[in-house]
Amino acid sequence: MDNLIVNLVEKERKRQEETLSLIPSENYASKAVRDAVGSVLANKYSEGYPGRRYYQGNSVMDEIENLAIERGKKLFKLEHMNVQPYSGSPANLAVLMALVEPGEKICGMELSSGGHLTHGHKVSVTGKWFKSVQYGVNKEGRIDCDEVLDLVKKESPKVIFAGTTAYPWAIDWKKFSKIAESVDAFLVADISHISGLVAGGVVENPADYVHIVTSTTHKSLRGPRGAFIGVTNNGLEKDESLAVKIDRAVFPGLQGGPHMNTISAMAICFEEAGSHEFAIYAKQILKNAKALAEELRAGGLKVFGTDNHLLLLDVGLEKGRETALKLENVGIVVNANTIPGDAGSAMKPSGIRLGTPAVTTRGMKEAEMKKIGKLIVRVFAGDNLDKIKSEVLSICHTYPCPN
Ligand SMILES: *Cc1c(COP(=O)(O)O)cnc(C)c1O
Repeated sequence: MDNLIVNLVEKERKRQEETLSLIPSENYASKAVRDAVGSVLANKYSEGYPGRRYYQGNSVMDEIENLAIERGKKLFKLEHMNVQPYSGSPANLAVLMALVEPGEKICGMELSSGGHLTHGHKVSVTGKWFKSVQYGVNKEGRIDCDEVLDLVKKESPKVIFAGTTAYPWAIDWKKFSKIAESVDAFLVADISHISGLVAGGVVENPADYVHIVTSTTHKSLRGPRGAFIGVTNNGLEKDESLAVKIDRAVFPGLQGGPHMNTISAMAICFEEAGSHEFAIYAKQILKNAKALAEELRAGGLKVFGTDNHLLLLDVGLEKGRETALKLENVGIVVNANTIPGDAGSAMKPSGIRLGTPAVTTRGMKEAEMKKIGKLIVRVFAGDNLDKIKSEVLSICHTYPCPN
């Protein structure tokens, strides 16, 4: 045993146990998921796809990957699924590799408005190797679909990403499908943040409107760190070889051997996320986000949101980081984030981002959200931080992390 690491893992377990994670992209995976990730499946090389591997000894792996694919397709209503992407970022790069040549035009939402780096941000390979045009949000922080339509008609991108990391509103998939249709572009729904809400049936599934769906599996979906790419019926109608193109882009285009331990955990997570209990969980995530937003507003704070699992809080010009640090000191873990129309920058943002998937997994409901909201308001009011910290700890002890 490597005691150094064992002790550090234990230290981190205690940190998770004794703090409240309000980071909307984090969650606590089940023991079944974690056990699968740590299983002997990690020992095997399985380059290729089920029935078409480059190494011998993969018959069990074929069964596992096929099971993950079948469960995932059913859960998200997809015609084809690739479960091999190592994470969300390589999944999006694989989509671009499948659909566009370097230098061709793509379109996505600005990072500062709530989009993701891999949707064409200038520091990302997706913004460096492709010509990227980006849309933002209006003053209330909402996507203006007429503006997106104007941009798309002017620029004619080949691929359009819709999907967000810090956007508290629902996306109008139908409008996006019309926008993509107007220039015959491929439309990709990146549901990384909301895939648990889609699986739980509490927000709309974009599968009926888009060509491709990408998602991480470790956020609201509560699975292992990994990702999938799905091709919809519309996608295959637009391009009958779309599934083949996606598979080739993932392997051998971008990756080598798939992480079969992760893929087995994905199969478990898809089964869990299709359960009645998970639908109740997803519903509670939304109720909790609304309750938290309400309490923060009642405390005089400026809140953007919320249709989904997250909200953005305006904490004053460039005060995002110091606010996040102050909250961490009382055991409330959040991240600094830009807010709509931020006069600061990504390095010095004026907001924080809060989300409810993780605390909802711990069993907390509206009453606890009100408590947490009040504690956050008290931090802003400059109340005694030690006292607040002990109240946070008491909530943590009442709602342990799943073991
Ligand atoms: C989290 C996220 C990603 C990237 O996932 P990683 O696993 O961190 O690479 C991509 N797109 C969106 C919308 C995300 O929220």
